[in-house]
Amino acid sequence: MNTIVGTIGNASPLVADAAPMIDPFGRAVTYLRVSVTDRCDFRCTYCMAENMTFLPKKDLLTLEELDRLCSAFIAKGVRKIRLTGGEPLVRKNIMHLVRQLGRQVGSGLDELTITTNGSQLARHAEELYDCGVRRINVSLDTLDPEKFRKITRWGDFAKVMEGIDAAQKAGLKIKLNAVALKDFNEAEMPDMLRFAHGRGMDLTVIETMPMGEIEEDRTDQYLPLSKLRADLEEQFTLTDIDYQTGGPARYTRVAETGGRLGFITPLTHNFCESCNRVRLTCTGTLYMCLGQNDAADLRAALRATEDDGLLHAAIDEAITRKPKGHDFIIDRTHKRPAVARHMSVTGG
Ligand code: SAM
Ligand code: SF4
Repeated sequence: MNTIVGTIGNASPLVADAAPMIDPFGRAVTYLRVSVTDRCDFRCTYCMAENMTFLPKKDLLTLEELDRLCSAFIAKGVRKIRLTGGEPLVRKNIMHLVRQLGRQVGSGLDELTITTNGSQLARHAEELYDCGVRRINVSLDTLDPEKFRKITRWGDFAKVMEGIDAAQKAGLKIKLNAVALKDFNEAEMPDMLRFAHGRGMDLTVIETMPMGEIEEDRTDQYLPLSKLRADLEEQFTLTDIDYQTGGPARYTRVAETGGRLGFITPLTHNFCESCNRVRLTCTGTLYMCLGQNDAADLRAALRATEDDGLLHAAIDEAITRKPKGHDFIIDRTHKRPAVARHMSVTGG
C-alpha cells in the first residue's frame, strides 16, 4: 500500500512507495546527488579544461522540474539529497530549489546538503541555514592564496575564506574536502589538518579520479592516500573510527587535534560495496555509478505526462541497472580518462 506523505508547490502529492529502491546487489538507494548546473566560476585543473564548453541553457531542466524529480526520489525512499555541480551556487535562483526541498527535511528527507567551492557562500550562508541545511561540504585544496589561484585558475582565496566564516557564523557545520595532488598540496596536509580541526571542521582527502579530458596529465597528479596517510602518521596519531556520514569516506580520529580526518580512496580501495547513491544531472540523466557510462534518461518520462507514474517506473528500471562497481583505472599508455564526462557533470 502507498502512503501520501506530503505535497510540494504545484507538484502532485508525494506518494511513498512501500518498497525502498533496492539494487540488484541488495544495496538500498537512499542518497541522491544532484548536479544542478555543469557551469562553474572556477576551473580547477584536475576537474576541467580552461576552455570548457558548457551545455546550452535551454537543455537544462527548470528548477521546478528538478524539484519534481527530487520529490519523486524522496517518495521512492531517498533520505538524503546533496546539491552539487559545477558550482551549485552559481545557478540562477538556486535558493528557490533549496527552499522547496528544505520543506521536506523532517518529512521524507533526513538531510539536505550542498557541496560548494565556497565562492558564493558568504551571501547565501544564512539563507541556506534558514532553508533547513545544517551541514555543507566546502572544497579547498590549499591554504596558500597563490597556489589556490593556480589550482582553481580563476578562484579568489579570500572570498572562500569569507564564505567559510559566514557559514560558521550562520550555524552551518562544514566539512572541508581536499583533493590530494602530488607535488601540490602533499606537504601542506599537516597545516590543512590543523587549520580544519582548529576551526571545528572535519577534513576529508580525496584521490583524483580519471574523469573527463583536462589539459594536464592525471598520472602526474595522482597521489595514493596510503602514502599521504603514512606521511601524516609521522606527525599525528591516527586511529580508525566507525564514524559514518552516508558517504564512502573511512574516518580516523587525530589524537593531537581531536578532529576527524576522512579518506576517500576510489582507486586504491574499492569503495563500491556499500554504495547507496545515484547521481542526477541538470538535464535529467541519471547515472547509477560515478565510474560507469550507463545512464537513464528521466527527462523524457518527466516531460511525457504530469502523472508521476511513468517517472517512478523509469526510476525503478534504472535502479535495476545499478552496477556492482566502477572501472576506474588510469590508462597509463594512452593517458585517457576512464570516464569521458567531467566530474562537474555528475558532481562527484
Ligand atoms: N564546485 C563544487 C566544489 O568544487 O565543491 C561542487 C562540484 S565538484 C565537481 C565536487 C568535488 O569533486 C570537489 O570536492 C572537487 O574537488 C572534486 N573533484 C572534481 N574533479 C575531480 C577528480 N577528477 N577527481 C577527484 N575529485 C574531483
Ligand atoms: Fe568548479 Fe568544483 Fe570543478 Fe573546481 S572542482 S572546477 S570548483 S566544479
